[in-house]
Amino acid sequence: MVHETGFYDLLGVNPKASADEIKKAYRKLALKYHPDKNPSEGERFKLISQAYDVLSDPKKRDLYDQGGEQAIKEGGMSGGGSPMDIFNMFFGGGGRMQRERKGKNVVHQLSVTLEEMYNGTTRKLGLQKNVICEKCDGYGGKKGTLEKCSTCKGRGVQVKVQQIGPGMIQQIQSMCGDCQGQGEKFSSKDRCKNCNGHKVERKKKILEVHIDKGMRDGQRITFHGEGDQEPGLDPGDVIIVLDQKEHDVFQRQDDNLVMKMDIKLVDALCGFKKTVCTLDNRTLIIGTQPGEVVKHNDIKCVQNEGMPLYREPYEKGQLIIQFQVEFPEKDWLPEHLMFQLERLLPAREDVMISDDMEEVDLCEMDIQSGQQRSYSGEAYEEDDEGPRGGVQCQTQ
Ligand SMILES: [Zn+2]
Ligand SMILES: [Zn+2]
Repeated sequence: MVHETGFYDLLGVNPKASADEIKKAYRKLALKYHPDKNPSEGERFKLISQAYDVLSDPKKRDLYDQGGEQAIKEGGMSGGGSPMDIFNMFFGGGGRMQRERKGKNVVHQLSVTLEEMYNGTTRKLGLQKNVICEKCDGYGGKKGTLEKCSTCKGRGVQVKVQQIGPGMIQQIQSMCGDCQGQGEKFSSKDRCKNCNGHKVERKKKILEVHIDKGMRDGQRITFHGEGDQEPGLDPGDVIIVLDQKEHDVFQRQDDNLVMKMDIKLVDALCGFKKTVCTLDNRTLIIGTQPGEVVKHNDIKCVQNEGMPLYREPYEKGQLIIQFQVEFPEKDWLPEHLMFQLERLLPAREDVMISDDMEEVDLCEMDIQSGQQRSYSGEAYEEDDEGPRGGVQCQTQ
C-alpha cells in the first residue's frame, strides 16, 4: 500500500509505474526544467531530481512507499547528489574529474516521429553556441594591455555596505561587475570590439542529426566537442536525446509495433480481409479464413513487419494486432428474424429454473462510477463506503 505519492506526482507517474516509465518521465521533465532552458524553475528542477533519485533506486523506493519522505530522511538515504550530478549521470555528462578541463555538456531534446525512426532520416538542428572569438583568439583584447580593474582594485569582488536597520550594518560581497571577477580588464580602446572583451562570441551552428532506422525513444546521439567553447577548456559535448511523438495507430514495444483493429461481428465470425498502412507507406493485406473465429481482444501478429532493428535494419520485429470486435447495436435485427439467427448460432445452454429462485432486474451499469471503482480497486485498497448509485448491479 502506497501512503505518500508526492514523488510520483512530481514525475507525473502512477505509484505502480515501472522503472522505465519513471526514467522516461524524469528524462522529459529534467530537460524541460533544466536551468539552462528554464532559469526560473530551479526549485522545480531540484524537486524532480530528488524524486527521481529516490524512485529510481529500488531500495529507496521501497522505503518511500512504506514510510514516505520521512522514512527516506530517517534512513539517511536523502541527498544522493546534487540535481546537476543526477542530471549529468543520467544524460552521460562529464564526471567530476573531467569537469575541470572540459566545458559543460549541453543536452537537447529532439522530437521525432515514429515514421522517422522506422525509415531513418537526417534532421538539421540549428544551435546557438559560444565559440572562441576569432578576432582576439579568445584573449579579449590587445595582447599585453590587460590592466588592473580600478573598480575592485584587482580583487575581483566588490564590498557593499548596507544599512539593514537602525545602527545595523551588513557587508555584502559580490563579484565585480566591471571585470566579471577577473580583477583585470581592458581599457575600452584595447578591448576586442568583436566580442566586447568576453573572449567568446555567440554563433549559430547547424548540426546534422542522423536518425538511424530502429533508433529508440530516449536514445542519445552525442556530438563530441560541439558544446560551448571557453578559453583554456576543451569544449563539452552536445547530446541530442530523441523524444518519440505518440503515433495515431502504432505503439512501439521494443522492436514490435502494436496496434488495435476494429472488426465487425460478421468479420469475426465469417472471416475478413483488411488493410494496414505501414510506416513506410506500403499497404499490407491481412485476413482470416471463413470458419476462423476472432474473439474480442484476440491478438495476432505479422512476422517481420515491426520496427527495424537498430544497426540491423533488414531485420524487423513483429506487428502485433489486437482485435476489437464491434457488436451490432440494440434492435439491429427485427425480432421475428431472431429465431433464424439463433438456429445458425451454436446452441445455448439451458438453465434450470425452480420456484425457490428469485428473479431480479438486470439494469444498465453506470459506466463512470464503474470505471472509477475498478481503478481504485486496482491501485488502492477498497474503501468501506456503503453502496452508491450503480453499485447495486455489481456481482459479489
Ligand atoms: Zn573589477
Ligand atoms: Zn574578441
